Amino acid sequence: MLRILVKKLSASRIRIIFAVLLVVFVKPTESRLLPRPRPPVDLLLLNAHVITMDPSQPEMQAIAVQGDRIAWVGSDSKARRLFASASRAIDLHGATVLPGLIDAHVHLVSLGQSLLRLNLKDVGDEAEAIARVKERVASAAPNEWILGWGWDEGRWASHYPTNRALSDVSPNNPVFLVGLHGFAAWANEKALQLAGITKETKDPENGKILRDEKSGEPTGILLNRAQTLVETHIPAMTLEQTKKAVELAARECVRNGLTSVHDARVSPIMLNAFRDLIREDRLPLRIYAILDGADRVLVNEWLAREPELDPRHRLTIRSFKLFADGALGSRGAALLQPYSDAPQLKGVITTPEAEVYQLTRRSLEKGFQVCTHAIGDAANRMTLDAYARALGEFPQARDPRLRIEHAQVLAPTEIPRFTKLGVIPSMQPTHATSDMTWAEKRVGPQRIKGAYAWRSLLATGVHLPLSSDFPGETLNPFYGIYAAVTRQDPSGNPAGGWYPEQRLTLNEALRGYTIEAAYAEFEEQAKGSIETGRLADFTVISRDINRLAAKEILSIHVLKTFIGGKLVYDADTER
Ligand SMILES: [Zn+2]
Repeated sequence: MLRILVKKLSASRIRIIFAVLLVVFVKPTESRLLPRPRPPVDLLLLNAHVITMDPSQPEMQAIAVQGDRIAWVGSDSKARRLFASASRAIDLHGATVLPGLIDAHVHLVSLGQSLLRLNLKDVGDEAEAIARVKERVASAAPNEWILGWGWDEGRWASHYPTNRALSDVSPNNPVFLVGLHGFAAWANEKALQLAGITKETKDPENGKILRDEKSGEPTGILLNRAQTLVETHIPAMTLEQTKKAVELAARECVRNGLTSVHDARVSPIMLNAFRDLIREDRLPLRIYAILDGADRVLVNEWLAREPELDPRHRLTIRSFKLFADGALGSRGAALLQPYSDAPQLKGVITTPEAEVYQLTRRSLEKGFQVCTHAIGDAANRMTLDAYARALGEFPQARDPRLRIEHAQVLAPTEIPRFTKLGVIPSMQPTHATSDMTWAEKRVGPQRIKGAYAWRSLLATGVHLPLSSDFPGETLNPFYGIYAAVTRQDPSGNPAGGWYPEQRLTLNEALRGYTIEAAYAEFEEQAKGSIETGRLADFTVISRDINRLAAKEILSIHVLKTFIGGKLVYDADTER
């Protein structure tokens, strides 16, 4: 049969068929026998313990980088054989390499400002705060604003200070000190005066001016939106100041091993600062900018155009931030039932459902994502309702990945809705361990079971990106990972962990800071794991996190940070 066929074919035809057979059958064998010629690589990381987050080869020893991408991942001996001609090789002496860590909810400019402003984060009481202000006033120019931040309005809520001592140490310079979570501020007499806040001033919508019970005079504590009465009188940051703040913050990020951040409320000036810094090569960090969804001009401008997807993955703009309520500590979080420790209060919805729905609906049509801050169970329910309506009316939305930031207190009925709607809860492990001393007082023993409920959510199949929400919390991601796996404070309290049934495994926590955070910004094909073709972003750490007791996770140091194959932080050369 074959012979007859061959006879019928001309010699040239046979040659073509033979060539085809050669390609089909012989080529693969040949490439298995001979090493494929490899293009020269720019960077080779050797003698490392690489945690890839790629289930097909979870732990490896070497990585080859070409340009800003990973060209190869494998064993040390093979790497030395294949890439002998690499232009640069770094022996990591057994250090552990993680995919570049991603913090999925941060405030870069606030971190930068906090580095520039008076830091009250570790003050124990009012007297200590006053002493720091006094010191700052001594070196301030006449009329210069003394701006500070970081006193814990959650912890101080039962005994807020007044402006008296603050006005005594600073009679002429206005003082404005924002709380750690941004939901309360403490102002002196001069600042209240400049803002025109008197006994007669009415509380603004969604805000409260605390007043002396007897005299009715403002005490100096401004809750929620009442802070804006003073804020509008503080000279705005210039573009140069904003750039300085972002640059300082980005440097802190890479020192802490972060390679990407999701900035959770970006204003036009911040966007300009990011663009300028990238152009001037002063911003190593990758930024996922979540635009301020309350800025109507900004929203309309962006919804009139397309999302901005950067082919170099430096700055991505495709998302809006809304606030459904306030915070739990200052009782601004919107609850379905009254606060357990303040039966007359239920918190406040700060963006009505109709607005959340409208922005979501418009965003879905234009391919934008919406991320809504929701802390209380009422705010979470309302946001899920608004999302459900928008998704229902626009079912053709491709891969919307709507997010709820914090998803902190959830009614049992809401927990399965995240997976059902494909909504991403974007959560902060250290919020649980910072709030655990008072959170149950606010919501009582029943509702607390649905609070900071990472495990309950994960059990329904959600994507669970993790983050710090810095500067309210430390930006050190290993504190977040530690809090996620222990539900304990850094001193190990409480023993066994706070509601330990909600703890995460180490792998789930690492996923939260890598693959899942990448997913929350639509970047899981480019970031979050160490695989051929992904961006060459790495966090090199001092200890093997897979083989540490939980407590020791806190002692991990970042040795090197690589972004796009570039060494952007090196502990050996920087103090
Ligand atoms: Zn935030």
